[in-house]
Formats: sequence, structure tokens, C-alpha cells
Amino acid sequence: MKGQMMDVPLTITEIMRHADRINGETEVVSVAYDNPRHRYTLSDAFKRTRKLANALKSLGIKKGDRIATLAWNDYRHLELYYAISCSGSVLHTINPRLFPEQIEYIINHAEDGIVFFDPLFAPLIEGLQAKCPSVKHFIALCDAAHLPETSIPELMDYESFIESHNDSFDWPQLAEDDASSLCYTSGTTGHPKGVLYSHRSTVLHSLASALPDAFSLSVHDTVMPIVPMFHVNGWGLAYSAPMTGTKLVLPGPKMADGETLTDLINNEEVTMTAGVPVVWLTLLEHLKQSDTQVPSLSRIIVGGSACPELLIQEYDELFDVSVHHAWGMTEMSPLGTFNQMTPKIAALSEQEQMAYKLKQGRIVFGVDMRIEDWQGEAVEWDGHQFGAVKVRGPWVASGYYKQGESIDSNGYFDTGDVASIDPHGYMLITDRSKDVIKSGGEWISSIELENIAVGHPDIKEAAVIGVPHKKWGERPLLIAVTRDVDVSAEELLAHFEGKVAKFCMPDAVEFIKELPHTATGKLSKKDLREQFASYVLG
Ligand code: ADP
Repeated sequence: MKGQMMDVPLTITEIMRHADRINGETEVVSVAYDNPRHRYTLSDAFKRTRKLANALKSLGIKKGDRIATLAWNDYRHLELYYAISCSGSVLHTINPRLFPEQIEYIINHAEDGIVFFDPLFAPLIEGLQAKCPSVKHFIALCDAAHLPETSIPELMDYESFIESHNDSFDWPQLAEDDASSLCYTSGTTGHPKGVLYSHRSTVLHSLASALPDAFSLSVHDTVMPIVPMFHVNGWGLAYSAPMTGTKLVLPGPKMADGETLTDLINNEEVTMTAGVPVVWLTLLEHLKQSDTQVPSLSRIIVGGSACPELLIQEYDELFDVSVHHAWGMTEMSPLGTFNQMTPKIAALSEQEQMAYKLKQGRIVFGVDMRIEDWQGEAVEWDGHQFGAVKVRGPWVASGYYKQGESIDSNGYFDTGDVASIDPHGYMLITDRSKDVIKSGGEWISSIELENIAVGHPDIKEAAVIGVPHKKWGERPLLIAVTRDVDVSAEELLAHFEGKVAKFCMPDAVEFIKELPHTATGKLSKKDLREQFASYVLG
């Protein structure tokens, strides 16, 4: 027997409609290229979104066309988010921090018809425009007075583009599985790959991520996303905040500026913010140096890479701010786990709690997870055994744009991460699958060894890679950068004694001046492996 409920498609247009009618008074505050403090309401935002939709229509944009943005977090980017997806075309957010060749590849692969860009990226666009034949229009996100001097042909400014258009628009009825947006992974191996989100995946992700034990959004909150809207939909906050009536504070190009962030937090009474660890280290330094408190701020969400203990500790002790780990990836829209203390963990001592706070958190509803050993068998959730993290769910990618499906025979997507889950449901990332060291039938976590190495007071940065070994298949090699002090290999290895099982101990240590990093600032083990390709152990 079928249920008798209405079959109403889950679309971003419904988020917009609800936000416009019910949360129209909610404020959006931005730092923009041409205005250090722009302020308006969601109702103003959607009025301009309708003008923008008419302007796009006037250019002949059709359903399914890809339209790119290279933009910081601000109100115009928010308008593009809704106008593009809700009129049936595909919002293609591009990460300006990628290498220019990668951006060129991405624009050509997606066959973008229009590129909206922040004037700060004009030099980048100048270099690219002749190599991207699909792009018919370049539009700078500013008003006519701030249009940059450039060689980009027929460049328009956003304000003139939308100005003469009507502010009513008849939004088309879309199917919930229609594509809404596109984001490419940074492609640490090979070319970047496109993840194509749907209206349905976006709505469901917004609902689940807003729940109390995840981002916990409400009309009483003010959120400042430091996660860029150009990467993985800014963790969906541009959708979940209007959906819940949460005030948005968008820092524009000032995302790494401690002083601006502090001003925004205190003047706009920000309650929650989200970003990668390095942003929070910058803000922490600024708050300590300027002796400033942030009384409105109650929680910080950290994701993208593991959060150092010092961050969690100092924000709590000095500023009464709780730091929560979240984990996810481009292919997961991004949210997969969120770290919230359960009553059992909250009852533990502070020191015991910290061991849990450092984990990536508990699986959010909607994501089904399997941890598999290297034979593909599910491992027990005992907090010790680790394996490949595989996921499935309505906001998990089933494949990449213009490529086939990339799910296994059980219907799961392999995240490329390696983790354990403890009996309380907390997941701990122990490695990336391609970085884990496979030694004589055992897996050795490179991250665990790196964390121990940087715990040595004279070690600035460390990386562990597996190198071929006749007897064991692979053994760990520790590569370290010292803090301008001489440290011997023996001294460093002695520091591991008692901290890991004997078979996990690195076999050798090499000291180098600097470790290689990717365009997005992550340690590039691929380059390191190439550098040490001829290294032989045993
Ligand atoms: P890319 O950098 O390839 O575009 P993403 O930005 O989607 O990919 O990053 C996803 C990866 O970042 C995850 O697979 C995981 O390895 C890492 N990651 C994300 N959040 C965390 C976290 N909280 N702790 C540790 N690693 C994380």
C-alpha cells in the first residue's frame, strides 16, 4: 500500500520561497569589493535575485546551462546561488586558489557560458579568457564605478547587468533530481573532478545540517561562514541559514583577516562560525594580542583537516567558545559527521572529554557508513580497528560529471579516508587510503606517526610515507622539518618509544628544509613520494 501524501519536489526554489515569505526580515551583512559593510534583508536579496534571473534569461540562458562564479562570500554571490539554480541552470562555483591551468581545465570541462567574478580576480581572468571558448560573457561583481581596468573584452558590471530588469520572475517548476550546482575537487591526483549536486540533495543536506546536534541553526543565531562559498557550497550555509532564518554575515575577501573577523563578530553579534583550522589559529592570535573578548560567539565549527588540541583548549579556556569538529568532502555536499558531546561523554573529566573532542564526530542522519578492512570486510566499531570509510546517502555523489558511476558493488562511495569508530559512535580519521602504510598485513596510520613527530618540541612539520620493503611490502619513512635546531634521527625515534606499537615505529628519518603543499595548502604526499621514489629500506 502506498502512502497518501503529496509528492512535492524538494527544490532550492522552495527554500527561497519560504525564506522570502517567512524570514524576509532576516539580515545579510557583507564585506564586498566595493563596500566594506553592505547590509540588507533576505527580502531585498530575493528581490534582486529575481532581477538577476530576468537578466540571465535576457542572455538566452537555458535549463542545464552551466554558469560559473569565482567569488568571495558576499551578497552578490548569494543572489547568484539562488538565481542560477532556481531558474534551472547550474551554479558552477570555482575555487580561485587552484592553479590557473586547473581553473582553465574546469571552465572548459564544464563548458561554462558565463563567468561572474570578483574584480580582485581580474588578472586571473585576463590570463584565462582567450583559452575558454565556451564563455560568452564575463561579468564583474561590482558597480559601474568600480569596474576594473582590464583587457577582458566587453566586460560588464553586475549592477548595470541587473539594473533595468523587472523584480518579478516566474520561477520554473523544477524536478527535484535536476542538477543545481557543480563543484570540482582540487584533484590532488590527476585532473579535478566535478561533483554535480541536485536540488533534492541540497535541500536534504540543508535540513540535516541545520539539526540541533549538527550546525544547530535558528532565528536566534547569526552565522559567519568562513568556509568559502566557492568550495562545496560553503558547507551549505547559504541554503540552511535562509531556510532557518539565521542572520548571515559574509566576510568577502577578508576571510583571513583577524581584525575584520573580530569586528564582524562583535558588531553583528555572531553566534556561530565555520572554517578550516588555520583561520581559527589566525583569529586566536589576533584575539590574544589585542586582548579582545567575543561574548556573542558560542561555537566554532572546524573541518577540512584535523583540528589541533590547542585550538579547542584555548578557545574554551580564554573565550568560552566551544569548538566542534566536522568531517566531510566535496562528494558529500559536504557534511558526514559532526562532533557534539553526548550526555555520557559530557559526564567525563575534561581530559577524557578531549580525547573525544579531537575525533571527527558522529555520523549525521542521512549518511550510512561502512568501515572496511583491506579485504573489504566490515570492521567492528570498537575504536581501535580502522579501515576504508565508505558512505552512501541522498547527498553523496554517485559519480563524477561526464564520467560514469563511481560506487562499489554494495552501492557505497569510497571516501578515500581511513578511520575507526568507537562504541559511542565517534569517528576518528586515521589516514587517507593512499597514504596508509601497508606493512606485512597490518595498516600503519601515517597521521598518527606525524602527530607524534610534531609533538617533539624541535619539529616544525612532519610527514610519513610508505617506502617499498622486501620483507614487509612497505615500511614507514619519517620526513621532518626542524625548527632551526639540530635533531638527530635517533633522538627523534626515541621520542616515539612507548607512544606506538613497535611494528609502527618509522624505519628511518630524513630531514628536509620544506615539505611540499598543494594549491589548497594541504601537505602533498604525492610530491613527497616522487621526491623519495628511489628510497630503499631493508
Ligand atoms: P579536496 O581538497 O580534494 O577538494 P575536500 O575539500 O572535499 O577535498 O576535502 C575532503 C577531505 O578533507 C576529506 O576526505 C578528509 O581527508 C579531509 N577532511 C575533511 N574534514 C576533516 C576533518 N575534520 N578532519 C580531518 N580531515 C578532514
